Amino acid sequence: MDRGFLFGDGIYEVFPVYNGLILGLESHLQRLQEGLDAINIVNPYDKKKWTSIINELITYHQENSEQAIYLQVSRGCDDDRKHTHGKLKPTIYMQSSPFKSPTKSDLLKGSAAITRTDIRWSQCDTKTTSLLANIMFAQEAKNHSVEEVILIREGIVTECSSSNLFLVKNNCIYTHPKGPYILPGITREIIIDCAKYCDIKVEEIAFNKESLMVADEVWISSSTREVVPIVCIDDRLINNGKVGETWSVIYDSYQATKSIRV
Ligand code: PMP
Repeated sequence: MDRGFLFGDGIYEVFPVYNGLILGLESHLQRLQEGLDAINIVNPYDKKKWTSIINELITYHQENSEQAIYLQVSRGCDDDRKHTHGKLKPTIYMQSSPFKSPTKSDLLKGSAAITRTDIRWSQCDTKTTSLLANIMFAQEAKNHSVEEVILIREGIVTECSSSNLFLVKNNCIYTHPKGPYILPGITREIIIDCAKYCDIKVEEIAFNKESLMVADEVWISSSTREVVPIVCIDDRLINNGKVGETWSVIYDSYQATKSIRV
């Protein structure tokens, strides 16, 4: 009778861990809080308690230098399956999975993507466990042997099935602004910081598919994939299929951030 199982009524987070250190811990816990607030689940723990539980799980798996900690808070178990609910005790589920961040030489080969209409709801900024549209898109990417599905809502490129999207044009980085149509990715935030640190201009504005197709560079970002250059979209090469120089600078800066920032 857990509403997470029955309805996908819950919030989740994925924390990337490098050599025992969580990257962006504070931001992930903040987004968890915002997600729980958005769907009216009372956060069962404060940040200090979450940090201690997550760290305990990390130490169980010290043998893995890179771990992805998956955390889910569902609304909890009811005594019957009904759409409405009373006051319930949230269920907490956590797991650690080993992951392997991609190497720069692998990424330099460039990845492909396809575009699809973004059919999701208008609360994409809530990291809910109800992911049906996202997983269907992800499966489509897999079936087409591409890295991602790029989503387009009323002509505007929003994000991808499980990552945010960036384009570079004339040395400026563009990404969709935060709001109801994208998940505010923590990696996205770190990349924006890296760009500022490297003196590269960033514009958080909406852009259309035409701009995407004539971009100098396109990348996607997520906690476990980091920053992946996309060189082919819908079977058309972006910038003649070459991975761009701006990506390389940001990739290096991101790697440096991993070792210093928690
Ligand atoms: N957008 C969507 C739809 C996602 O599922 C994810 C990854 N969970 C992201 C963006 C990237 O978020 P983050 O950088 O926090 O992993």
